[in-house]
Amino acid sequence: MSVYNFCAGPASLPKEVLEKAQKEFLDWQGLGVNVMEISHRSAEFIALAEQSERDLRELMNISDDYAVLFMHGGGRGQFATVPQNLHVENKQAVYINSGIWSDGAFNEAQKFTQAIEINVRNDADGKFNCLKPEHWALPQDASYIHYCPNETIDGIEIFDTVKHDAPIVADMSSNILSREIDVNQFDLIYAGAQKNIGPSGLAIVIVKKSLLSRQGTQKASIFDYALEAKKESMYNTPPTYSWYLAAEVFKWLKAQGGVAAIEQVNIEKAALLYDFIDNSQFYKNTVANDFRSRMNVPFWLNDESLNQAFLAQSKQAGLLALEGHRMVGGMRASIYNAMPIEGIKALVDFMHKFEKEHN
Ligand code: PMP
Repeated sequence: MSVYNFCAGPASLPKEVLEKAQKEFLDWQGLGVNVMEISHRSAEFIALAEQSERDLRELMNISDDYAVLFMHGGGRGQFATVPQNLHVENKQAVYINSGIWSDGAFNEAQKFTQAIEINVRNDADGKFNCLKPEHWALPQDASYIHYCPNETIDGIEIFDTVKHDAPIVADMSSNILSREIDVNQFDLIYAGAQKNIGPSGLAIVIVKKSLLSRQGTQKASIFDYALEAKKESMYNTPPTYSWYLAAEVFKWLKAQGGVAAIEQVNIEKAALLYDFIDNSQFYKNTVANDFRSRMNVPFWLNDESLNQAFLAQSKQAGLLALEGHRMVGGMRASIYNAMPIEGIKALVDFMHKFEKEHN
């Protein structure tokens, strides 16, 4: 039986990457040891690091105006690191609250800088148009504007970009590399790795070099963007095994045809699942079509008393981790790049069968 893992993060990694890692576990590049056992300053590891950066730059079309950093601390690490680095005296950072994660980023930022939150969750028209950046009442002056283009828990994705003179910062933890974006529309992109990149703990930061001259606040050296850029993410020992796996995921993604190609698959996967839910009287998703996440699909059974049976039987059918986030309940299927379309078909088949049995 095939097993498909719908966990929101840490999430499934491409099978090919895991198989390669397994093959190389005791002997990486003929060195007779694992890559995690060698110095991060060895020629071999530096070659890996440089290649991974080149691959990520190619995948996302990142210009030389940006530094690419491989940092510690995952997504929440960046919740603190962004304000510490981008703080400007007597200016406010603006946080767009479009869901649970962007609100979390705001709460952390308040410890380090003056921040205001703009709530864009007021769904007065029932169409979620409040989520369109063109409707956001942004102040003229800000140290930066922070938003989260994919709310992992709420299942909301914001496809339009934000236009403003202040630097635009985006938490792309759950949708990085899932669709084509124009990096030049952003000043800083960060992502915890554990959804579309690799193991948890690692964070990728893509930051405009012109921002590196900002003093910010006092900060730990390992969270200093300018220092990390100068030291090529090796100020201290980086999470080398996670970096290795990320590098393998980038190679895998290139072999799939890159971001444009995986985006088409992601569109197809999401459509299959949302169409099924929309055509059913048994399941529902309440996010307006234009703002539905392609990566995280929350759904609810109309009869919630069946939740435990749904979870137990889906697990038995090899469909793992479908329980919704504890803050919103229901179910959630996270369908990142590594989830093959067969996984969605298996899920839809199971949901159909479960509906027939319990309707
Ligand atoms: N931002 C978003 C959008 C997330 O989905 C998550 C994790 N699910 C985080 C931040 C936090 O990441 P971490 O657990 O790596 O700190």
